[in-house]
Amino acid sequence: MANHLIEIDRVTKIFGDYTAVTETSLTIERGEFLAIMGSSGCGKTTLLRMLAGLEEPTAGEIRLDGKSQNGLPAWERDLPLVWQSLALFPFLSVRDNVAFGLKMRGASKDKRYAQSHVWLKKLELEEFADRSVSQLSGGQRQRVALARALVTEPKVLLLDDPLSALDAHLSVRMQALLRSLQRELGITFIYVTHSQTEAFSMADRVVVMSRGKVEQIGAPKDIYRHPVNRFVAEFIGNVNILRGRVESVENGIATLQTPLGRMAAYAGTVGVTVGNESDFFVNADQMQLVGAQADCNSITAKLLSYKFVGNMVTLYLECEKGEELKVTIPEPAYDSAGLKIGDVLHTNWQASAAHLFHQSD
Ligand code: ATP
Repeated sequence: MANHLIEIDRVTKIFGDYTAVTETSLTIERGEFLAIMGSSGCGKTTLLRMLAGLEEPTAGEIRLDGKSQNGLPAWERDLPLVWQSLALFPFLSVRDNVAFGLKMRGASKDKRYAQSHVWLKKLELEEFADRSVSQLSGGQRQRVALARALVTEPKVLLLDDPLSALDAHLSVRMQALLRSLQRELGITFIYVTHSQTEAFSMADRVVVMSRGKVEQIGAPKDIYRHPVNRFVAEFIGNVNILRGRVESVENGIATLQTPLGRMAAYAGTVGVTVGNESDFFVNADQMQLVGAQADCNSITAKLLSYKFVGNMVTLYLECEKGEELKVTIPEPAYDSAGLKIGDVLHTNWQASAAHLFHQSD
């Protein structure tokens, strides 16, 4: 048995003269919850459709359990797909919608109903079994779509933004349900989403794509704390990207001269050359407000606006030369600082909170 459950091996997909996915390689482990994110049109759905057998790669190979899936039609793969639009049959009952997956596989009526019953129970849908799906709420329909996919006990479930039509409250409940189902069943989930919250709260690993290519793969925390390049940093959001000339590198810490003063940033294993210009980033939630400007890793800027995000407040600042900066602080710190728009603030951070990018772009 192959070590990896799924291998996407240098897969390319070209539509006419447009390359939607470019030489993408990715391995997915058994029982893993993998989320795929990226800007609109970057090829997420195309990748999922190729896994499902709804599109054929132009080049490269997709393997499931070591076996090539190229040329295999969707119904011969063990890779069901749950869509955002669900594609349930409105004229069938909940039970028949769920049983449909097994009917396609030639299971007897008794077996179909017995198995459907198990999944209706697991997804708390028993009381709706005889209703038509058109009489259900959005969240209930979503659970029917999941039950229909899971009733065939697939090794892998492909999900294309399944929660995007739900309100925030329901989405959070469905996220918890999906995560616990995935853990309990040990099924591999490949989950395309536009929502960073969904990806980061559920996935073991997150893939960030841009223009048909994988930019970074990693645990949510790694991607959040250590984006490898400017694209990922900007996509994930809450970071400040700065640029400076490297003055020295000592013990893995680079000192840079920037238009905003001297800064130190963690270089780690990144190859940096003294005298070169380099980009580095600082997470906004790693910056603090301090009483006065410090010698290093410190910026003075004017408060332009602010936004509450949960129990944190993001401050939007403008430096003297027009550079913009974000600083995220806990709400109590914001309250006790008594800030007003137009106030001049001093920020500071630890050198270990600033990182040079692994890749320049
Ligand atoms: P979104 O987040 O907007 O759903 P996505 O990352 O899922 O986007 P895809 O649906 O994979 O993007 O599309 C990738 C690119 O390929 C897009 O530019 C899209 O217009 C193009 N594309 C997708 N399917 C086809 C097709 N059948 N024919 C031609 N172009 C296509």
